[in-house]
Parts: sequence; C-alpha cells; structure tokens
Amino acid sequence: METDRTYLLPFKGLSLGKHTFSWQLGKDFFSGFEESEITDGCIDVSLLLEKKADLLTLDFHLKGYAVVMCDRCLDDVSIPVDYTASLFVKFGEETYEASDELLVLSYEEHELDVAQYLYEYAHLALPYKRVHPIGEDGEPTCNKEMMTYLKAHLVQTEKE
Ligand SMILES: [Zn+2]
Repeated sequence: METDRTYLLPFKGLSLGKHTFSWQLGKDFFSGFEESEITDGCIDVSLLLEKKADLLTLDFHLKGYAVVMCDRCLDDVSIPVDYTASLFVKFGEETYEASDELLVLSYEEHELDVAQYLYEYAHLALPYKRVHPIGEDGEPTCNKEMMTYLKAHLVQTEKE
C-alpha cells in the first residue's frame, strides 16, 4: 500500500528557523479515518514550524467548518471551526508520546506524519453540543419532520 505523503513533514531536510505549511481538510481526509465524526467540511490548516538544534515547535491553526451529525435531529450540520494547538517535538532514544503536547522522536526519524494530529485537532475543535442554530422564529433550524416526530413521541429527555 502506498502511504499518503501529503501530511509528512520532512524536518531533517529543513534548515534551522521558521517554515510554514498549509493543507485543506475535507471529505477525503476525514473518510480515511473509520471513527471520524466529521463527514465533510472545509478546514484550512496553517502550520508554523520552528526548527531549533534540538527541538521543533509546531503551531497549528485550523479554520473553516466541519460537517457532523446534529445531536438533536441527526441531519448534517456545519459547525464553524477555529482552533489553535501547539506541539513540541524533542529527540531521544525512542519514539513515544510524552503528553498531548510533547512528542519524543527517535534520533533515526527524519520525517513526521501530522495527519493523526490534524484529525484529533479538528475533533477537539468541535463544541460539546453539535446542533443546528436557533432560527429567527426562535425555533431550532433542525429537520422539521424529525422535530415534529420527537415532539409527538419523545416522552422524557435526560437532563445533562
Ligand atoms: Zn438539527
């Protein structure tokens, strides 16, 4: 199987200093992850990578929108995304994730695949509740049929 090199950062070959990268995440990207809650969307990612002698700092900014299932009516809903995250990369004898923000890479590594990070950041950017916004009439702009059905048949809703 051919590996997708789109999200690989060839940091060994970069000079010391700052470098910028950009990607656009959409349907194709998220469909590559089986567990993805995001089914579609358009998220512009910019990455500022600073390479120092023994440290990489990566500052990500994700901006755009993600399409997920509405918690209330189960239709698709577009959620605005505006999220920043930082990742620090140090080097050691072996590769391991020291924390959410610190990755240790083995000295033998020469590139870093950030696809998994971009996937996680996009999901972290989502609010806890993902629902259609309230319309001008004060009612949620949800799927009308589903809302009518719920009103007629929903007996009890657990309070969070
Ligand atoms: Zn809805």
